[in-house]
Amino acid sequence: MFEAFHTRFPDVGVTETRTITPELVAGQGDTYIFLELYCNDERCDCRRVIVHVCSLGQAEEGSSRPLASLSFGWEPEQFYRDWAGFPLDADDLAELKGPGLQRLVPQTALADLMLEWFRDLLADPDYVARIKRHYQAFRASVGKRDPEARAQRRAELAAKRRERRRRR
Ligand SMILES: [Zn+2]
Repeated sequence: MFEAFHTRFPDVGVTETRTITPELVAGQGDTYIFLELYCNDERCDCRRVIVHVCSLGQAEEGSSRPLASLSFGWEPEQFYRDWAGFPLDADDLAELKGPGLQRLVPQTALADLMLEWFRDLLADPDYVARIKRHYQAFRASVGKRDPEARAQRRAELAAKRRERRRRR
């Protein structure tokens, strides 16, 4: 599951989240926040970021629905082919490696514009380096936050294994 970077790193999340404040978008001045989400599955190393673009104006009105859900993977295509373990078509790759719009999640009329801006941000090597750094930090924190849940999961797995052995 993808989880917001700032839930584990609130301080870094605030200072290192990109925002864009254009002159006017759709007739309104607003600030657009590019929130990063990373995968918190312990056994996964998918090397991607999901970016939810939110408008500050909307957030202040209490809406948490992102204007766009974007996807970006920084590794070469082959990495995602290997990771998937099944043949990927062009659309799969466009979503896994991107930068692209996430399929199967609601987008808005501004989504294509947000993707365009995201591409502009990614043209800056510092931004890409920061995303990779955030991914590393996030992944290093996975599994460490909740030792109790981990111990419980381990106990469940062991019980399942015993159960399987008994059935044989
Ligand atoms: Zn993953």
